[in-house]
Amino acid sequence: MKATRIPVWLMTGYLGSGKTTLLRSWLRDAALQDAALIVNEIGEVGLDDKLLGQAVDSASLISNACICCTGLPGLQDALADLWWDRLHRRRAAYGSVVIETTGLADPRSVIDAFESVPLLRERYRLAGVFTAVSAVAGLDLIEAHPEAVAQVSAADALIITKCDRADGAAVERALRELHPRAAIARSQNASLDWPRAMAMATARPSTPTPPWRLHVPSDHGTSTQFVPLDAPLTLEELHAQTNALHGDALLRLKGVIRLDDGDLRDVQWSVGDLDLAVAPFAGNVPRLGLTCIRQREGHAASAKT
Ligand SMILES: [Zn+2]
Repeated sequence: MKATRIPVWLMTGYLGSGKTTLLRSWLRDAALQDAALIVNEIGEVGLDDKLLGQAVDSASLISNACICCTGLPGLQDALADLWWDRLHRRRAAYGSVVIETTGLADPRSVIDAFESVPLLRERYRLAGVFTAVSAVAGLDLIEAHPEAVAQVSAADALIITKCDRADGAAVERALRELHPRAAIARSQNASLDWPRAMAMATARPSTPTPPWRLHVPSDHGTSTQFVPLDAPLTLEELHAQTNALHGDALLRLKGVIRLDDGDLRDVQWSVGDLDLAVAPFAGNVPRLGLTCIRQREGHAASAKT
């Protein structure tokens, strides 16, 4: 008898597209209560696993490497470890796996791994690929970054996020042109729930758009820097600090800091955002400070072929 393969859901989307917000809401759904979660971040200080870990028992974090390129062996190991730990009852059985990629990932190499790596092919089944695209910044990102185009082309379901801040119509037109066969929905504040998202991803046979030849640089042409901010800050000092980190090449800022009221705050900014998002944070982080992701000079990437 052939063993049932475990379904894997892949969540991708460019830096700041709202992947974590969507996933955090989906992971509260009963159908994903026993999901195993794998989170990938390119910075050395992971944050998304903490944000998502509140929704699930435990999350595997693959940090400081991107699973589409240098971190792909790390993903294969994480999936193999999960499988063996489950077999030897070192962990609770899981009914599915949810993987959140970095914002820079080209998901095509991850998708290929589920066909080409024997353990992954035999034990797991890629059930659906979700790509989040920001209604605010999505068009500019698709223009400028081949990774964003690769993410769209690999999707079964495209979710236009942040529709409370822009209506998403122009982004939807661009997505239909790039990937006519994908299901598309709009979401605001994670209003698209898991049952509808799952139905979108599984409604049609998964046939990624055979892509135009896209070259995605192997290191994504970015650099990542962690700025420690150990001392408590006033809000004014936080804004002064983040203003000093800004510049044309900044794509993403994220991290946890302590405000002078003694409480921790989750701080996020992504390209296209007008303001810094500062939210209460409960949990532990290895270090206080901000991870900055910048486009490296000479890598004004182009999605044109
Ligand atoms: Zn990569």
